[in-house]
Amino acid sequence: MPRSAQVAQPNVGLAPYDQLEQASLGSLRAPEGWPRCPRSKLELIDPSTGKRAPVRCGSLRCYACLVPVALNYASALGLARPSQKLRLTWVGRTHQEIRQRVRKFHRLLRRQGRQVEHAYSVEPNPRGTGNHIHGWTWGSPITLEELQDAATGAGMGAEVWIGPAHVLPTTPPMIKYGLKSVLDYPPGVTEMWPEAREFLELNGGRLLHATRGFWRDGETEEPIPGVRPAIAVARQRAGVAGKYGFLPHT
Ligand SMILES: [Zn+2]
Repeated sequence: MPRSAQVAQPNVGLAPYDQLEQASLGSLRAPEGWPRCPRSKLELIDPSTGKRAPVRCGSLRCYACLVPVALNYASALGLARPSQKLRLTWVGRTHQEIRQRVRKFHRLLRRQGRQVEHAYSVEPNPRGTGNHIHGWTWGSPITLEELQDAATGAGMGAEVWIGPAHVLPTTPPMIKYGLKSVLDYPPGVTEMWPEAREFLELNGGRLLHATRGFWRDGETEEPIPGVRPAIAVARQRAGVAGKYGFLPHT
């Protein structure tokens, strides 16, 4: 039995799976000085280095855990090594409306013979003038004209953009751009801030949406069945998946 599993789980309202995953992968590390999760009093320790880290609930509704989770998603996006980055405008007003249009957009791309895997998030325009999408794709390359046809056919704006995707050379490699409403957090936050709240509402309570086959290891082209295992692979690949055990918080 792993060392972490032998520790009694105090009742702090956390799923044991999340805690064990954090112990084995160190999967929810926060930026330096970031507030600890108000829902957990536990700490993790890496016995080989003595490095400590607070356990996190990992909920997107927790202001203190939102940023660490968003950084993990950014690393899963980086791992997938998408080839193109796109922007769609006037995508709709509500999460429901946007979802329907995106479905149609995917259907129209397929009809053009484009087999594309796509991950995206919706962002409000500045000054409340509508919403746009930042997306990342791999599979068939899309031309600007094809993108425009699929976007307008799905009821979105004709003003679209497509170009090469760039992965930031961080450890692990990341794509952060579409998550900037969450990652550009105001200094000294002690509660959920308005931009993050609005972003989550527009995205139906999620950070990212992806087509079924999107998650993969872009280096080996091995498919990965979901964002969580993709985060685990990204951390292992980058050598930042420590072996942590639990330490009671004092
Ligand atoms: Zn939390």
